[in-house]
Amino acid sequence: TIDLTRAESLIRTIPDYPEPGVLFRDITPLLADAAALRSCIDAIIEPFAGEFDVVAGIEARGFLLAGAVAIAAEVGLVPIRKAGKLPRPAASVSYALEYGEATIEAHDDIAEGTRVLLVDDVLATGGTLQAAHDLMATLGGVVVGTSVLMELDALGGREVVGDVHTLFHA
Ligand code: 5GP
Repeated sequence: TIDLTRAESLIRTIPDYPEPGVLFRDITPLLADAAALRSCIDAIIEPFAGEFDVVAGIEARGFLLAGAVAIAAEVGLVPIRKAGKLPRPAASVSYALEYGEATIEAHDDIAEGTRVLLVDDVLATGGTLQAAHDLMATLGGVVVGTSVLMELDALGGREVVGDVHTLFHA
């Protein structure tokens, strides 16, 4: 198994960001460390190795992981973007945030039946990953796995998204 001790020690907790009372988990120290980053990319892939054709990363921190996963796993990459950023979005899904609503979009660059691994940095309430799952399904993709670096257990995202492969819990 992959040793993630170093990586876990490099997730920084920032109080009162982006709002008072919120504990933000900052992954940039982990990204900046070669060994920690490599161990996380390998661990994200491990349970799904050979089972996916593309990795889909969610803007913006999910992109950082997805790019590395794509090269390490030798698969293509599908960016899932916030609304209004893609020139030819083929599908969009809106979902509720704590205050207001968000929309994500993707291009239809995957063939029907393409096996997709979904990647993001943090699972909080699960709204984002659930929407990403729906978005990929709308485009004919088959989501075979979902991987996050960190799951915020108290926010109950797992009940929304279902089975998620999580490297670290908080
Ligand atoms: P959810 O939709 O599950 O409530 O929120 C997950 C999304 O918000 C992810 O795309 C993630 O990047 C971001 N997010 C929420 N909380 C945190 C956090 O504490 N740290 C980081 N890095 N991202 C967070």
